[in-house]
Amino acid sequence: MRTLQNRVKEDGIVIDEKILKVDSFLNHQIDAKLMYEVGQAIVDHFKEKKITKVLTIEASGIAPAIMASLHLDVPCLFAKKAKPSTMTNEFYHTDIHSFTKNTTSTVVISKQFLDEDDHVLIIDDFLANGEASLGLHRLVRSANATTTGVGIVIEKSFQPGREKLQSEGLDVLSLCQVASLAGNKVKLVDE
Ligand code: 5GP
Repeated sequence: MRTLQNRVKEDGIVIDEKILKVDSFLNHQIDAKLMYEVGQAIVDHFKEKKITKVLTIEASGIAPAIMASLHLDVPCLFAKKAKPSTMTNEFYHTDIHSFTKNTTSTVVISKQFLDEDDHVLIIDDFLANGEASLGLHRLVRSANATTTGVGIVIEKSFQPGREKLQSEGLDVLSLCQVASLAGNKVKLVDE
């Protein structure tokens, strides 16, 4: 997706050889129009497939996920990183290791919102080692629901996330593939 790729090149800040900061349009301040287009591009890729729900993880996956759900006209569900006291009914849970924070947290979704009839499109802001997306896929499987595919805004192709998701048989789409962050420079796969 050219507009996204240009934005990543122009506004992405390389923190180190593995971490890219995109706080100006995705992870802190959100460019809603760009996210609207991101949602459309993800939906275009999966349009032949059955999707009843979009699933992401709080917080940064929510913007692209909600835009995809808007285009699909299906609900957007996000996994919570801590079980809130208001969530009194039963919930599915799994542990996810955070690449950026180097911590593991138990994420939850209420059983009320996912069941065996659901066909789920997983969406996240970044794909690195695949832990977040694989964790969301485990939640889908806990509900005996089906993962239709995984839509990613920015994939760091030098990390093994894609291979791990594909080895689970998942269809992975990413809209911007970063080949390297070496030398303080964002290098995309197709440049
Ligand atoms: P994974 O679970 O695939 O290892 O990492 C994906 C998750 O970690 C995403 O949900 C994202 O929030 C975070 N993440 C991974 N790499 C980066 C990065 O380079 N920049 C930012 N801002 N977040 C990242």
